[in-house]
Amino acid sequence: MNQLFRQRAFLTARVQKKVHEDRGLIRYLMRHHHTTPFEMCEIKFHVRVPMDCWRQWIRHRTANVNEYSTRYSVAIDSAQTTAEQEWRLQASGNRQGSAGFAGDTDGKTLTEKERYLQTLAREIYDERLKMGIAREQARKDLPLSTYTEAYWKVDLHNLLHFLYLRMDSHAQYEIRRYAEIMGHEIVAKWCPAVWEAFLDYRVNSSHLTRLEMEVLTAMTQGDKEKAVALGKQFNWLNDAGEPKKNRERLEFEDKLSNLGLKAPW
Ligand SMILES: Cc1cc2nc3c(=O)[nH]c(=O)nc-3n(C[C@H](O)[C@H](O)[C@H](O)COP(=O)(O)OP(=O)(O)OC[C@H]3O[C@@H](n4cnc5c(N)ncnc54)[C@H](O)[C@@H]3O)c2cc1C
Repeated sequence: MNQLFRQRAFLTARVQKKVHEDRGLIRYLMRHHHTTPFEMCEIKFHVRVPMDCWRQWIRHRTANVNEYSTRYSVAIDSAQTTAEQEWRLQASGNRQGSAGFAGDTDGKTLTEKERYLQTLAREIYDERLKMGIAREQARKDLPLSTYTEAYWKVDLHNLLHFLYLRMDSHAQYEIRRYAEIMGHEIVAKWCPAVWEAFLDYRVNSSHLTRLEMEVLTAMTQGDKEKAVALGKQFNWLNDAGEPKKNRERLEFEDKLSNLGLKAPW
């Protein structure tokens, strides 16, 4: 009995040591972009996505895709709907983004019109099918909010690349929600050590460019004059040393702010 107990304790210790070593190796691989081991893990998702979101999703070429065919089958009778309080306004600073929400009154009208449009489009589609029009042609006026379904098979390396881009705040909200659920609820359970390393070394990390390092070095040396001169040289500042409209400068200032630092200009 004692021997059995000792054997079990020995095996548990070995497994714990192995898990500990694996975690260390995974973290090393992630830090150093040694990515091929991550390609050895594969996952297949069955997704239901509105067409406009799918259009962005399908740009990720390193997955295998098998999509529901609306030439072969009747289009899915379901479309993504927007609640009254969910209508986002066009951002002024970022041409690709949104900022703030439409008011309640506008939201109510927008949602009502959305319902009207989706119902009308579906009725016309169904009418065409009843008249014997081919599915491949009847579908052409269905809105982009119509859901499609697909099997999406991808390896872990390329999935993380997808998640890195699509969980980012610059990605459109709709696809970001999918990415967040795939990451935080699926990958986190499937490969916890990889997910932890991915969050630590990719998502919640910062990369400094040569230009940024030069300014930061001048800052840490207390050489404000040199930091400002570099800012001018990089076209971040005007001749008077004032900030110019420049995305790279703003990105640098964001990185400084994450480090609790302020730009010297
Ligand atoms: C916020 C955001 C905004 C975007 N805006 C636009 C836009 O306005 N217009 C637009 O058209 N697209 C836009 N895209 C899509 C973007 O340009 C990419 O097509 C998409 O993110 C897929 O990325 P990827 O090519 O890295 O991924 P994958 O296709 O999965 O490829 C992964 C990696 O494999 C390599 N690879 C794959 N195929 C090739 C190839 N043929 N040649 C060389 N290397 C290859 C590359 O290194 C690539 O990074 C946007 C994406 C994001 C996240």
